[in-house]
Amino acid sequence: MIPSLRVSVWPSCDLACRYCHKEGNPHPGRHLQDREILEIIQAALPVGVVKIKITGGEPLLRPYLSDLMAQIIRWGVSLTLTTNGTRLSLWAAKLREIGLKRVGVSLDTLDPERFRQLCGVDNLASVIDGIHAARDARLPIELNTVLMRGVNEDEWENLTDFAKTIAARLQLIELSPAAQSPEFYECHHVNLDYVEQVLQEQGETLESVQDPSDRPRYRFHGVEVSLCRVVDMNQTMSKRRQGLRLSADGKVYSFDYRQPCLADLAQAYRQGTRGKDLTRLWIHVGTMINQNVPH
Ligand code: SF4
Repeated sequence: MIPSLRVSVWPSCDLACRYCHKEGNPHPGRHLQDREILEIIQAALPVGVVKIKITGGEPLLRPYLSDLMAQIIRWGVSLTLTTNGTRLSLWAAKLREIGLKRVGVSLDTLDPERFRQLCGVDNLASVIDGIHAARDARLPIELNTVLMRGVNEDEWENLTDFAKTIAARLQLIELSPAAQSPEFYECHHVNLDYVEQVLQEQGETLESVQDPSDRPRYRFHGVEVSLCRVVDMNQTMSKRRQGLRLSADGKVYSFDYRQPCLADLAQAYRQGTRGKDLTRLWIHVGTMINQNVPH
């Protein structure tokens, strides 16, 4: 009923990206303790959760995160993590050791000055170090790049070449209007058609059967490149919308934040709800979200 979860484990971040939507939760409450996260996630497993993505803020700022993730992996969940990469060099070997399936690293530019302007910190070198550490640890890597007009729309081929050097996949992401200021979106949104035209002409189209989100995928310069568009929410995004988000302060949201908070599981937990009663809350949320998915 709920195949996938995005779990934010840390509300803050050491970067300040201009397009950050703060996971739809700009003023989070007290973040969940390890035991609370684990019991809330464990209660979701009977509802069909088989894939979990760990996010933040910046998840690698959370102390003892590897212990928490190792426990989730022991339950048989396919676990991935998305990071800004600034601390990845410290973590890569450990993430590989516990059995993380893949690390997604945000990388919008290879230009240090662009990075500083976009992310508010002069720290591209740490991110590159982290990516190299992940490669050296043989951790599968996906680079995530938001393409923006007037910022980095000319860099996607360079990023493809960089992805090749580290045997990574590259996901090119269209700027979303959700949680952006209208001015920022208006100024920097760029349609990905100009990229897809090159990929179609010069690349190889890959079947999308393994990609439940139905994103177009290509092989280009030896790299798997996928496009993540802001598409009609009533069409191809419908499968992804069955996934849910658990915020760092224990609230449940739809994948696309199109609906307000669906449940406050931190509050329920702290009022004594446990085990099967938590699972009933997940079932209730899953029913609500599936009723709103177009078929
Ligand atoms: S790295 Fe991610 S969470 Fe951190 S500021 Fe940038 S977009 Fe936001």
